Amino acid sequence: MTTTSTSITGGCLCGAIRYESTAPPQMAGACHCRMCQRWTGAVAVMTVALDTETFRFTRGEPRVYMASPLLERHFCADCGSSLMHRYAVAPYGPNVARVGIGTLDDQSMVTAPNFHFGIESHVDGWLEVREGAVVINADEDPGLGDACEALGIEWTGLRLAGNPPTAEP
Ligand SMILES: [Zn+2]
Ligand SMILES: [Zn+2]
Repeated sequence: MTTTSTSITGGCLCGAIRYESTAPPQMAGACHCRMCQRWTGAVAVMTVALDTETFRFTRGEPRVYMASPLLERHFCADCGSSLMHRYAVAPYGPNVARVGIGTLDDQSMVTAPNFHFGIESHVDGWLEVREGAVVINADEDPGLGDACEALGIEWTGLRLAGNPPTAEP
């Protein structure tokens, strides 16, 4: 992770929502899970992790969608841009804002992701996972199990990795 500035700004496609962070990203990563695929319309959501102590929305109010109690997904209600997602509880939240790399004003400040979550849903051929990257299968991730326990909900693995209930065949 390299940065050229400690101030990070970005926003959605139509400009209604803007954000800033006064501290550099902690890491860059991708989530390949089916929920993130549907949310972005891409093979993965690509994000930088920013501390919620230093991250804030500076213009507009994003809408929040929660496909499960685990995760908030913040997006622009006007243009639909996927802006940020945040886990509700430890160990991955709630103090980490995972902000979409495509929404940054200056993308040259972040290096390519070396962390890949939800690899069980990785779509072959579209996005290379470089050798040496940290790769996590969401179905086997103890962190999500801990998060579900903290929220008092059942952890099945498939809930995150599979299609949402409304898409059942
Ligand atoms: Zn917008
Ligand atoms: Zn995901």
